[in-house]
Amino acid sequence: LMQLFRPLDALGWVYRSIKQGLVDMEEMFRLIDTRAEIADPPGAAPLSVNGGAVAFEDVHFRYEADRAILRGISFSVPAGATVAVVGQSGAGKSTLSRILYRFYDIESGRVTIDGQDIGAVTQGSLRAAIGIVPQDTVLFNDTVGYNIGYGREGASAAEIEAAARAAQIHDFITSLPKGYDTIVGERGLKLSGGEKQRVAIARTILKDPPILILDEATSALDSHTEGAIQDSLRAAQQGRTTLTIAHRLSTITDADEILVMADGEIVERGTHAALLAQAGIYADMWARQQTEGDIVDDSGAKV
Ligand code: ATP
Repeated sequence: LMQLFRPLDALGWVYRSIKQGLVDMEEMFRLIDTRAEIADPPGAAPLSVNGGAVAFEDVHFRYEADRAILRGISFSVPAGATVAVVGQSGAGKSTLSRILYRFYDIESGRVTIDGQDIGAVTQGSLRAAIGIVPQDTVLFNDTVGYNIGYGREGASAAEIEAAARAAQIHDFITSLPKGYDTIVGERGLKLSGGEKQRVAIARTILKDPPILILDEATSALDSHTEGAIQDSLRAAQQGRTTLTIAHRLSTITDADEILVMADGEIVERGTHAALLAQAGIYADMWARQQTEGDIVDDSGAKV
């Protein structure tokens, strides 16, 4: 099914399927927000990935003419490193991931992967290089095995199981009466938010992309689920360049760099420790989340 996403035209087909209630992809489309006018330039070459270093260089972007959303964003994620983005709702965090996946073209500036402008390479090759674990995962009304296997066409049952193990969802799946053959999705077994997210992580581990975008769920998960997801995310991040859109600061204290966004600009940046020492917006957010008491896990409390 991944093939469907290569030619954007095919998205229309998927959209009609959703309308018919075949699959619940509303959240995916909130992220995708299909834009038919994004086209490959004539003679576009495939992206050649060598490590998967990502760079945004003075990126300006607006969805609508009258409102700038990104106003001069520059940052880089070295190959294999993790950069986290935080900031108030509407600051433009998820927009960064949509731009990296090239759902939208930018107004000015440059976005590169291993030095190649993402606007100059084929979209198929770009999207093959990026795995997204979205806030809310889309499950097809099919077996859980299919839902994971969809990460890579032709994956064997053993590969699907290995990905599920890495994502810490294998034991849960085997506890179901029909195991990997259990039908999930709107018309099948309803999985919890945390279980769905681990299926998405397994799918992404199977896809094995050099670049990962993690869009953390806004809704708070219980601490047991949160811990399982963090472990599974860590497995997915191994050796991959990662951009994390975070709401709970406790999950990103290890990031190589944290970007604090406000109103389309990066207003603070640095490691967790450096940002705390700076006693600015990030330090305030951290203090606030700690007093709210719903985000501090063991690693967070030690910092
Ligand atoms: P949150 O933490 O709530 O997810 P965010 O920082 O990720 O927020 P974005 O989703 O990047 O924010 O949105 C940035 C701004 O762009 C918001 O003000 C939003 O209303 C606007 N926006 C997002 N998508 C569109 C769109 N398709 N058309 C027009 N405006 C949009």
